[in-house]
Amino acid sequence: MSLLKSKIVVVPLGEVDYMLVNRLAADLGPVFNRGVDILKGMKMPVEAFNVVRNQYYAMVMLSKLERIKSNDRENVIGICEEDLYLPDETYVLGHADILSGTAVVSLFQIRQEFYGLPEDDMKIYPRLYKEAVHQMAHVFALSQCRNPKCVNYFSQIMLDIDNKSEKFCDICLRQLTKQV
Ligand SMILES: [Zn+2]
Repeated sequence: MSLLKSKIVVVPLGEVDYMLVNRLAADLGPVFNRGVDILKGMKMPVEAFNVVRNQYYAMVMLSKLERIKSNDRENVIGICEEDLYLPDETYVLGHADILSGTAVVSLFQIRQEFYGLPEDDMKIYPRLYKEAVHQMAHVFALSQCRNPKCVNYFSQIMLDIDNKSEKFCDICLRQLTKQV
């Protein structure tokens, strides 16, 4: 680990809800004990859009985010409203890459789950927060956790996200404190 601490850069992508992004940026810093910058925002990259699937390819999103890094100590997380996918997955809530220090989280399924029902603000932010912390945990070299209550638990379905807590389990917390 370099002597100079890394920082987190939050990037609003496209027409994302800035209130949610700002709130997330304020909350992420203390969790990872890092300073946080919010960038002005970036358009959704057209290169990442798959016309057939009507979704954005998460890998391309990450390589785009990597390009805005000004140095290796920055860890970038982009937040978007559009649906994301990986070749083997119908959709992903988020994706991260430890080597490039990048992550992306989509609000699409987080909201879509309640399609047809009134939007529930009380549910949306905690879901975004948990998914963002989970993805950033990857960036900070934590392996996926098997404890369903841990915020770092892999959760593809909304019920798993809603059921897990907003905190790391003791094992993850110990790994995390080694990094900082
Ligand atoms: Zn854990």
